[in-house]
Amino acid sequence: MVGDKATSIEIALRSPASYQIAQAALAGMQAAGVWPTPLNFELWLHVAADAECPLSREITALTRAGEAITEAKSEELAARFLARGKLDEEVRDVGEHLDVQLTRVAEAITAAQETNADYGRTLAGAAREMTPEAPVADVKRMIATLATATRRVQRDNDTLEKRLSTSTQEVQRLREHLESARRDAMTDALSNLPNRKAFDQGLARACEEADASGAPLCLAVLDIDHFKRFNDTWGHQTGDQVIRFVASIIRKAGDPPRMPARYGGEEFALVLPGERVEAAMTILEAVRVEIASRALKRRSTDEDLGAVTVSAGIAERRPGESLAAFVERADAALYESKRTGRNRITSAEAPVQAEAA
Ligand code: GH3
Ligand code: MG
Ligand code: MG
Repeated sequence: MVGDKATSIEIALRSPASYQIAQAALAGMQAAGVWPTPLNFELWLHVAADAECPLSREITALTRAGEAITEAKSEELAARFLARGKLDEEVRDVGEHLDVQLTRVAEAITAAQETNADYGRTLAGAAREMTPEAPVADVKRMIATLATATRRVQRDNDTLEKRLSTSTQEVQRLREHLESARRDAMTDALSNLPNRKAFDQGLARACEEADASGAPLCLAVLDIDHFKRFNDTWGHQTGDQVIRFVASIIRKAGDPPRMPARYGGEEFALVLPGERVEAAMTILEAVRVEIASRALKRRSTDEDLGAVTVSAGIAERRPGESLAAFVERADAALYESKRTGRNRITSAEAPVQAEAA
């Protein structure tokens, strides 16, 4: 399990081999030609600690294929292999706690059952012995026995009730904890938007619903223009602020049932259920204009950073089309926006021809 992997890394990094693993991670990053960012360091620590884990195999395959591991790719790998690990771990922890609670409840029930069976036997015995002829002394003794047995049953039932109530509360707490862990695993930490994993699930669901209802569905993919240049000029941290800014504008256009997401490094997506491509173009055009018209300032120094622009591509779903083909068409339209000058929206659909009169 990936969760176990995460724990075994924690252990390995506190063992005598720790610095060797860290050095191997550095060497690995250098060999792969990636920057030693905290994220990459985390990824390559996993690779250094266990060459056979799925993440290691994926990175090895990518390097063998000569594919460059960009920051966007690193984020994608982290979303796929690290975030899930975290959720797995949380699920396992919750599972262990639940196990303890269930064992406690089962023990309390068994104890109460035994007490009740005992009580039943005591009552039956008393019923047999309490005849009109029984001597008074015997009756008195039997009454005392019955009173003791009754108190014991009461006490055990009280205990059972308390345990059940504690366990119910604990199970409720675990449920909330699991729900918040699930939300975390679906949210991108930098932008607070749904992440790639949430996007994949959300898009699949939206496609199923559109196919079932016959309603239209559009997908927009957006990418910040010349963002590498921006980072190179102003630094990665300021770049992060820009990602947050762009995310906030996309979020404003993305109230449910729409779903905005951070798709990769500086790439975003907006799923638009119920919209035809013409309406989606208008919505995205407003997003594009709002982003491009904002004069950005660096918070710490008040320096003018100019404006950033985004390019986007939009595709309208063709019924029954595969998810991959749908995303690919939106991507191709985005590429077309880049190719024809950036800061623009391109539709993947052929323009509707006006009918000849
Ligand atoms: P284009 O207009 O063709 O999209 O050019 P570009 O420079 O935006 O595209 P490219 O794919 O060459 O570079 C993307 C850059 O985005 C490189 C990477 O440093 C940056 N980036 C990706 N994720 C993040 C992030 O989380 N924070 C910051 N600050 N930069 C990021
Ligand atoms: Mg990009
Ligand atoms: Mg870009």
